[in-house]
Amino acid sequence: MSDATTLLAANQQVSSKVLGPAADTVDQSRAFPRDNLKALGQAGLMGLLIPAEYGGAGAGLAEMSQVIETQAQYCSSTAMVMLMHYCATAVIAAKGSEALKRQVLPAAARGEHLSTLAFSEAGSGGHFYVPVSEVSQNGSGKRLTASKSFVTSAGEADSYVVSTRKAHAASPTESDLYLVPKAAAGFTTRGHFQGLGLSGNASAPMSLDDVALDDASLLGPEGTGFQTMMEVVLPHFQVGAASVSVGIATGAFQAACAHITTRKYEHAGGAALATIPRVQFLTAEMAVELAAARAYLKETIRKATSGDPTAMLDVLGVKAKCAEAANAVLSRAMTLGGGSAFGRRGGLERMFRDAQAAAVMAPSSDVLKEFIGKACLGLPLF
Ligand SMILES: Cc1cc2nc3c(=O)[nH]c(=O)nc-3n(C[C@H](O)[C@H](O)[C@H](O)COP(=O)(O)OP(=O)(O)OC[C@H]3O[C@@H](n4cnc5c(N)ncnc54)[C@H](O)[C@@H]3O)c2cc1C
Repeated sequence: MSDATTLLAANQQVSSKVLGPAADTVDQSRAFPRDNLKALGQAGLMGLLIPAEYGGAGAGLAEMSQVIETQAQYCSSTAMVMLMHYCATAVIAAKGSEALKRQVLPAAARGEHLSTLAFSEAGSGGHFYVPVSEVSQNGSGKRLTASKSFVTSAGEADSYVVSTRKAHAASPTESDLYLVPKAAAGFTTRGHFQGLGLSGNASAPMSLDDVALDDASLLGPEGTGFQTMMEVVLPHFQVGAASVSVGIATGAFQAACAHITTRKYEHAGGAALATIPRVQFLTAEMAVELAAARAYLKETIRKATSGDPTAMLDVLGVKAKCAEAANAVLSRAMTLGGGSAFGRRGGLERMFRDAQAAAVMAPSSDVLKEFIGKACLGLPLF
């Protein structure tokens, strides 16, 4: 077990020395970043949110945000895998039975167990909080058949926080969360992830075919999955996804500044791109977008961790705003990167593709704005 300050320093070290140098290879080969995870695990980062009594650092949203942002600055595929692991371990720590926590959390804290979220289904798409699959209950116990459409770390993670409607649910929000091990009979992944960006995070579909569900792996009381998604998963995922966007934008800003200060014109007596007023203007726009996104993220975390009653609006908004900021930064960075960036040199093009995922990963930016609009107008969210 390490304290949070030590972990933040270790995360910076592993991100710059291991994740960064491998980022282009992970992207181009679409390989799951196993070596990166091993290095992060050995440094204690997989136990960041796990309570100290189970061997973790017991850190919270603020530290998670810093860690994810740094990882995303160097390799966003790895950052997304880590974010899903953090969300899953937060749910297990908050809602798991004591036996389940003893079984999973110490191994996760040692970096020997990777977990993730398996929520989205074709039948409800980005509206992940209303699964269409349902637990079936008969004489031999509970069983689940479900088709999950995108699961980060599919087939790579050791366990999956799976959402489904509870048996005989009266409404779509009467749901359950179960921790399903990869070794469960009936668990399969379908195909390989061929996404535009985040190419290394193995976000493939997976199937649960008549999988036996064990009461000891139910996360929280039966029928309370929706509440757990809103109270535990949503703040961690939203803040973490916003942190991924800010991290990508930070990496892109640095790469763009490095390019425009070193790209020089012979025809202009060796003057760098940086001397051109329009280039300075675009640089300023990137800096301001990034600063505004980072400030909103910081304020959201402050509200969410201090019990501010208005925190939920910001928790909803911050993912959308930071996704937009990352895209605004990346579109300018790609322009300034010129032929070099378009020719896929220097990492900007990879970051540009990676940044696109944030707008469509559920809750998508448009769905978030629908929620925020309803909340502002006093309308029910669901
Ligand atoms: C890289 C990546 C990793 C992922 N990892 C995971 C994971 O680990 N676990 C997991 O469970 N899922 C994961 N997902 C799935 C993700 O969370 C979404 O569920 C999925 O992207 C939804 O895709 P869809 O085509 O079904 O969206 P759809 O629901 O079909 O939506 C398509 C578009 O319609 C818009 N739309 C839908 N409803 C509304 C509305 N009411 N108002 C306005 N616009 C609307 C959406 O904004 C969206 O842009 C991942 C997705 C990606 C891309």
